Amino acid sequence: MPTTTHRIFNFSAGPAVLPLPVLEEAQRDLVSLPGVGMSVTEISHRSKTFETLLNRAIEDFRALTGLPADYRILLLQGGASLQFSMVPMNLLGAGQTADYVDTGTWADKAVAEARKVGTVNVTGSTKTDGYNRIPEPSEITLTPGAAYVHITTNNTIEGTQWKRLPDPGGAPLVADASSDILSGPMDLSRFGLVYAGAQKNLGPSGVTLVVIREDLLARSAKTLPTMLNYRVLADNNSLYNTPNTFGIYLLGLTLKWLTSLGGLQGIGERNARKAAALYTEIDRTGFYRGTAQKESRSLMNVTFRLPSEELEKQFDKEATAAGLDGLKGHRSVGGMRASIYNAFPEEGVSALVQFMREFERTRA
Ligand code: PMP
Repeated sequence: MPTTTHRIFNFSAGPAVLPLPVLEEAQRDLVSLPGVGMSVTEISHRSKTFETLLNRAIEDFRALTGLPADYRILLLQGGASLQFSMVPMNLLGAGQTADYVDTGTWADKAVAEARKVGTVNVTGSTKTDGYNRIPEPSEITLTPGAAYVHITTNNTIEGTQWKRLPDPGGAPLVADASSDILSGPMDLSRFGLVYAGAQKNLGPSGVTLVVIREDLLARSAKTLPTMLNYRVLADNNSLYNTPNTFGIYLLGLTLKWLTSLGGLQGIGERNARKAAALYTEIDRTGFYRGTAQKESRSLMNVTFRLPSEELEKQFDKEATAAGLDGLKGHRSVGGMRASIYNAFPEEGVSALVQFMREFERTRA
């Protein structure tokens, strides 16, 4: 039996394409981990084998990012969406205000959840521009003494990405980095807390990464529900209850793959090449129109429109038939979206560029 079947190019925004070597290794390990004799899905989360696997993933993340020693890495459940609640529950004290920069649909959802917990100041919103750009520093007004400043580093739906981090004043910077975590060099020491659903750049769905600076753990009140308390989860190395063991195993393999490619520098260069190839094609004639302003364009989610919705429907249909899957934009904004996360291959980008040229030639 062949170890791989035919694979198409998967432009899904998440869950998204995983590296083929990761899937192949997981396939080999699924029935029996070498030297263990049981599937990784069958072993106890309290076993030495799993503990080693978890700690190796944490150490690999640390090494990849050069994470300072005073940061903790948690691998949780509930998705980035649960972090919309956990961040304010743990970090926003009574009588304090949290600043949120509103750059997209997911940022807006983070605001809505934080408002259920405490006082929120929304600043630098680009909503009236259809979230087609990241705000200028002059558009962001921070609350003196804010509990934290929250940003969304990459706006998955709208296709925009921060190029320079905002200055949070003295407050910890908190980021939802779900759709661009580890997509290139990232100085995590500039953040108090970073969270990300794993299902785009880190592995499968069902695992959520939280990186938190140790001093912030002191803010978690004892009265919080145990499973929502960062301090408890950190004290127990993400093993307070049964974690997503298979998901963490796959995340570990993905980090190993990333390291083998030359780490964040290597993947950053590859991602920049992929995005440049697509944006060059989008800008070539005017048939395609990028929806994000140029300075704010995302390297992960490339959003564009065609001259009509009718053509967009045809584009999607024919692309799918040609083995280019998942190019339809998010239902809330329409148009097209090519998600080209870390594991998306450069050949897939070339295939899309070829397809775009041919589509334009026959329809323009
Ligand atoms: N934030 C961002 C930037 C996202 O792209 C997503 C999912 N696409 C979420 C949050 C929500 O993530 P989850 O489904 O893991 O809750």
